[in-house]
Amino acid sequence: MVEVATVLMLVTAASLTPITSTSWLWFGLLLGASVIHLEAAQGIERIREVSAEGSPYTHMQSVWYFAGVLLLPLPLLTALIILSFTHEWFRVFRGQAIAYRKVFSAATVVLAVGGAQLVLAAFFPAVGPPYAAQLGGPIGALAVIVAGLAYRLVNYALVVGAIVASNPEQPARKALGHASDQLIIAASVGLGYAVGVFTVDRPWSMPILLVTVLALHMGLLLPQFRIAAHTDSRTGLVDAAWWSDRAADQLDRARRLARTVGVLMIDLDHFKQVNDRYGHLAGDQVLTAVAETVKHSVRSLDLVGRWGGEEFAVLVPAVGVDELHAAAERVRAAVQALAVETCDLEGRGVTVSGLTVSVGAGLFPGTAVELSDLLLAVDGALFQAKRQGRNRTVMTTRIVAAPAEEPARERTA
Ligand code: GH3
Ligand code: MG
Ligand code: MG
Repeated sequence: MVEVATVLMLVTAASLTPITSTSWLWFGLLLGASVIHLEAAQGIERIREVSAEGSPYTHMQSVWYFAGVLLLPLPLLTALIILSFTHEWFRVFRGQAIAYRKVFSAATVVLAVGGAQLVLAAFFPAVGPPYAAQLGGPIGALAVIVAGLAYRLVNYALVVGAIVASNPEQPARKALGHASDQLIIAASVGLGYAVGVFTVDRPWSMPILLVTVLALHMGLLLPQFRIAAHTDSRTGLVDAAWWSDRAADQLDRARRLARTVGVLMIDLDHFKQVNDRYGHLAGDQVLTAVAETVKHSVRSLDLVGRWGGEEFAVLVPAVGVDELHAAAERVRAAVQALAVETCDLEGRGVTVSGLTVSVGAGLFPGTAVELSDLLLAVDGALFQAKRQGRNRTVMTTRIVAAPAEEPARERTA
């Protein structure tokens, strides 16, 4: 429905609007800004999107979309939105998000910008886009405010409606999202207005505004997602509490979408010997190097946390048993190939190599359907790997709370 309405609106608009070379310039600037913005913020956005499971995911990209409302004719504005969502799909979510949801949210954004432009057209019936040049005076300010409200309300109503309809069991309150989301959108729309108005006369103010938006996005608007606060200073990895919260988010999402989530627990073998032989300082450096190696051996969307002293946990969304096993083996091989330059207790340079890890691996929902059970089972597999002689991967076999299956009967020939 939403998608059909979007297409109809576009076809009408496209047949009515000529596109000037200035429009193309503005389009290019906004697209460039949106791409740079997402590239810079992709780590935060990946976590925000998963954390927003069951609530609307607030797009910071609204800055560029709302600037587009003031600057671009609808067909170019739509192209901006589609390209930006496509870029987001490949770079932020790397194909791991849910396609129909992304298509739906792109459609709601297109309808929202269409609604905002209708408001502006009602205020200034004699002129078409760009509206940015018309916005002086109190009427202009009022027009922007109403257009901003229309932009937000159309998008919000459609998204909340879809969330309520697709999650009838969850309290409707959650579908409304956090009140702070409204502030984020208000700020984005306000900045979008500034970008739009400045760009008409001074397109080269765009880089300055882009830096402003990036600084706000990363530094101020999202303190709760500043990973630094949850980062372990020795290894640069997220801490166990934050990792567990994200794991719970991923399991919620996987449950709803019938996806899988893999978990690896990785423990350095005989790490105490490294400390005993070279001292704790050297041990610390080895630990940092191993953390780095683990991080680089998995995909960028896999979350590596420091689970305890010399133990790491990796969250591996949307994989099968074989891929999970392969990921574990990749980590194991990479650590084994590692050589760390450090100093021993007397300050002599030494190279620590031949390190090994034992890995336990398990999968939601095959191993267990609750996070605590899954972690317990994976820890059990890690223990098995140690017992079987270390430097190996053991997959969980334990099935917790899976649907009961018919016992296999022996066939008589
Ligand atoms: P295995 O796991 O193979 O059974 O042997 P291990 O020696 O690695 O295991 P154990 O759990 O007995 O000891 C873990 C050691 O890791 C003890 C501690 O000295 C060391 N360790 C834990 N955290 C740190 C750290 O932050 N820095 C240093 N240098 N060592 C650490
Ligand atoms: Mg160990
Ligand atoms: Mg240990």
